[in-house]
This record gives sequence, C-alpha cells and structure tokens, in this order.
Amino acid sequence: MKFATKAIHVGNEPNLKEGGSGDVVMPIHLSTTFARSKVDEPTAGYEYSRSGNPTRYALEANLAALENGKYAFAFASGLAAITNILLLLHMGDHVLCIDDVYGGTRRLFTKVLLNFGLAFTFADFTKAQDLQEHVQANSKIIWIETPTNPLLKIVDIASVCKFARKKGILTVVDNTFASPYLQQPLSLGADIVVHSLTKYIGGHSDAVAGCVVVHDQTLAERIKFLQNAVGAILSPFDCYQVLKGIKTLAVRMERHNQNAQKVVAFLSTHKKVKKVYYPGLESHKGHSIAKKQMTGFGGMVSFELVGDCQKTIRFLQSLKIISIAESLGVVESLIEHPASMTHASIPKEERAKIGLTDTLIRISVGIEDEQDILEDIAQGLEKI
Ligand SMILES: *Cc1c(COP(=O)(O)O)cnc(C)c1O
Repeated sequence: MKFATKAIHVGNEPNLKEGGSGDVVMPIHLSTTFARSKVDEPTAGYEYSRSGNPTRYALEANLAALENGKYAFAFASGLAAITNILLLLHMGDHVLCIDDVYGGTRRLFTKVLLNFGLAFTFADFTKAQDLQEHVQANSKIIWIETPTNPLLKIVDIASVCKFARKKGILTVVDNTFASPYLQQPLSLGADIVVHSLTKYIGGHSDAVAGCVVVHDQTLAERIKFLQNAVGAILSPFDCYQVLKGIKTLAVRMERHNQNAQKVVAFLSTHKKVKKVYYPGLESHKGHSIAKKQMTGFGGMVSFELVGDCQKTIRFLQSLKIISIAESLGVVESLIEHPASMTHASIPKEERAKIGLTDTLIRISVGIEDEQDILEDIAQGLEKI
C-alpha cells in the first residue's frame, strides 16, 4: 500500500464482522475500563484504557505504517514521547545530541534528566566523521533532528546510523520537521523515530500529541511497558483528532512543499532579505544529503532580514494573514522570531555562536493560496 492510502485506511478498517457496525471512521472509545466474561482473561483484549484503548491502537497502527515501522506508541505530547525514550537509559549513560536541537528537548535533557544521572553532549555532527570525537564508552543514544530548528541543518541519517550501529549505540531521529511523508528514518537504519504529532502529522493546531515508532520487538516491548508504567498516554479524543488530521497528510505535504518553494523564490531575490535557509536551495550546505534522504524539502523556511531586531519585529507585526505564533507544520502559515520566542531561553552569546541572529525569522509555510501568502510577506517587507 502506498503512503496516501495507508494514511487514510490503516487503523480505520471498517469492522464488518457480525456485531460490528462498519464505521469507516474509527470511533472514539472513551471507556476507561473494559468488562470481561472471565476473571482471568480480557474477553475483547482490553483491560484498562491506560494500558490499551481501541482508538489509540488505531492511531498507533497508522503511525507504524506511515513510518515503515512495526510498532508505534502514542503519548500526550512530543516531549512525553521523548521522555519515555530517555527512560530506557540508566544512571551514568551518555547521550550525544545534535546542537541545534528543539529547545524543549534541550531543556528536558539539561534541566530535568541531568539530575537523574544521565550525561549529555551537544555537538554539530552534520558530518558523520565528527561523531567519533564525541562518543564515549558510556554513550547509549545518538539523538538527531534533521532538518533542524530553526537553521534547517541536514544530518546524513544513514551514515550516522551506520556509525552508531557498529558501536552498539541506538540512533533516535526526531522526524517532526520532515514528517514521514518526506523522510522515513527507520528505512535509513534508525532504531527509533519520535514525533511531535502536534505539528505536520496532526496538522490542524487542535491536538498536542507525540509518538515513538520502532521496528525491533524487544525495544517495542520496553517502550510499551514504559508507556503504561509512566502513564503519559494520548487521550482517545486526541487520538481521533490526530487520525483525522493524518488522512490529508500526503496532500498537505505536497502543498506545504510547493508553497514553501514559492516563498523561498520570492525571498531569495528580495533586497531586504539578507539570507534564506532552505534545504531545497542548491546553495544550502546540506542540499545534496537532503536530496538523497528526503522526497521533498518541506514547509519550513528561515531567513534573515537586512536591518536590526526592531525592523524584524516591525515586519512580523505588520503581517495580516500569517500569524505570529510558536508551533509549526499546520495548515495556517505561522511566523516567529526565534531570538524573542522559541529560542529566547538560550543566552544571546550562545545564540550568536550557533548562528541564531536577532534578524532571523522562521516561517512555517501553510497551505493557504500561495498568492495570498506572498502578498502578505511583500506588504510586510514594504513597511520596513
Ligand atoms: C514541537 C516539537 C517537539 C515537542 O513536541 P510537543 O508536542 O510540543 O511536546 C519536539 N521536537 C520538535 C522538533 C518539535 O518541533
């Protein structure tokens, strides 16, 4: 089955057996517990909704199919999913993490999990040969995001996985920015894929959710155990919302790709724009790797304005259709100023070191009519 078909049908198969109602949409099973006819055996396979729920299982089956994995687990947020992966580790273990990682992930690692005896190194390993100097004897996980946020750096997933596998280290890929439509890390050798479903997969700004997808059965059993033991599961209603969003993932991603390309073309020639970051640009450092491992370049675009911080803020505040907001990957175009919003918690000097200037803007190009998006950006640039 091809991607767009899986997105619509896996998990939503109508129950046409005797007594089944034939729904073409997976119902929302709100029941917290499930009755049984015998004391020692759950009659329909379900016991208690934290351990297993039909609506959640439908979403999990769908997510596993989208990522070409065997097992998926849905969590109450992307960060809850990330936390559950880190709980696979033990005190004294080390994680090697890409430096341009999602801010919430960095906060979880350095402000929470560090206190539980895990160690972290943040490094720019956009080249696999750079990994060798950062791994330690106790390294257990290499944590990748690609494209990264907000500079859209590209990591060569296959070569990192090859390196990690030889050393017995698990590779985790946060695939939120690409979505499984554009990139499938498990097929490139990754052990674990994690998503914030809040972004492209849900796609409609109406559910905060996360998931973990794996191939390996032993790993799946450990994650399933943790999902139930820790309890940060996704509610049946949110599972339904995400399943509904997924049905249009393929068409949405096509439009995100197209619209972003138009925005990039417009910005690239504008005299008030200093620099554009987009993996689809031939001048982008990771372009050839992106071309190899992604089927499109996505809807995220970052750019720097000519001018200063105040001008940048004035531009953002003069937009009429594009909303100033955090989050990304949703049908609405969203724009933000990393220095004062998503990355404000990073000290200015550190921001400068990784190339996060005060005139940097990140736009999540939505699926509105391209002409309206371009006109909105154009009128905003005229005001500065
Ligand atoms: C948003 C995001 C997360 C966190 O997900 P939540 O659903 O907000 O908890 C993790 N990684 C990336 C790349 C994200 O964009």
